[in-house]
Amino acid sequence: MKTIRELDIDGKTVFIRCDFNVPIDEFGNISDDRRIRAALPTIRYCIDRQCKVVLASHFSRPEAGKFEEKYSLYPVYKRLDTLLKIKHELFFDDSKSGKVISQRAKELYAKMRDGDVLLLENLRFDAGETKDDEEFAAELSQFGEIYINDAFGACHRKHASIYAITKFYDREHKGAGFLLAKEVNFFGKVLENPTRPFVAVVGGSKVSGKLEALNKLIEKVDKIIIGGGMAFTFLKAMGYEIGKSLVEEDLIDEAINVMNKARRNGIKFYLPVDVVVAPEFSEHSTVKYLPTQEIPKEWMGLDIGPATTRLFREALNDAHTIIWNGPMGVFEMEKFAKGSIKMSHYIAETHATTIVGGGDTADVAQRAGDVDEMTFVSTGGGASLKLIEGEELPGIVALQN
Ligand code: AMP
Repeated sequence: MKTIRELDIDGKTVFIRCDFNVPIDEFGNISDDRRIRAALPTIRYCIDRQCKVVLASHFSRPEAGKFEEKYSLYPVYKRLDTLLKIKHELFFDDSKSGKVISQRAKELYAKMRDGDVLLLENLRFDAGETKDDEEFAAELSQFGEIYINDAFGACHRKHASIYAITKFYDREHKGAGFLLAKEVNFFGKVLENPTRPFVAVVGGSKVSGKLEALNKLIEKVDKIIIGGGMAFTFLKAMGYEIGKSLVEEDLIDEAINVMNKARRNGIKFYLPVDVVVAPEFSEHSTVKYLPTQEIPKEWMGLDIGPATTRLFREALNDAHTIIWNGPMGVFEMEKFAKGSIKMSHYIAETHATTIVGGGDTADVAQRAGDVDEMTFVSTGGGASLKLIEGEELPGIVALQN
């Protein structure tokens, strides 16, 4: 795969697939603009080379063909305007047509001068995007002589702007932006040749979404630390009473296989020794801190307890490389955020190479104020898991062909 630096882009029109799928709060404000800031180096590089730059991204999950304010990329346009600080024009298709390739978008495109930037509307306003539709991809390709993919977070999806579009470009006219190249290099290097001890911290809600990654990690790491909702499937597999905690009954055998595999490979496997339990899934319910052995039948575990955070900290002490994916509890509710926040602090405190993968996990690190202390915070959760699983990402394969 070529990177943008290896392509001759001077003075050309460049179509950049970005990942501007940013979180928005209840007032419509962008609550975390890291994904936009992460795209700036590639955009600026193109502007400095007198390119006409067309930006495209998906945003949330709108119904195709229907304009709804809450799915518009308008807030991203406003933030880009603040962040880019360019003398040139930043255009935005504000026709509210519910189309990506609208009449307005074409008019704006025709108006562009060298160094100008045009942001198209949410790609998912067109049904063709998620269907990897070639016709839609062909239309998009009319907006650029060069195609650049800088949307790591979307590379595991076979969508028109990620996959089908690349068929309209040869190897001299398509490549990876700086962000994509950095993500792929980072994960590649760490997974191929980690400095040991190599520790994986895995959390989040479900075992199912991370089973493949767990199986792959067991072949590579020295220790695995499991927290979050997924820990309860493992605890149940070990015979603990887990009350009403999240569990995937059909994966209990699989959980036993994972633990056996860890044992056979000499991998140290850590599970919570105490939990924060509540009678219901609510910010307002009463809570107790109990050893894992004592979870009441009608209660559920929603965070790791204080003894567990201390144990996990011990296990992290000698780590030289740490991969972290998934929160340790329901961090969205303050009562159950402590385990995740503490883990973030502990991971950040180590001198290890620390890689945080995934939207939720990056969010925890951000809330904990630890982002700057981490070696690398990936912008893509699903995509980084696929890389760990050793799967080829469609978006990257498409750039190589
Ligand atoms: P994932 O998308 O699999 O990384 O899961 C992230 C979600 O897991 C977050 O929204 C957390 O609220 C949720 N989560 C973490 N721990 C628990 C738990 N003990 N019970 C229920 N949900 C949890």
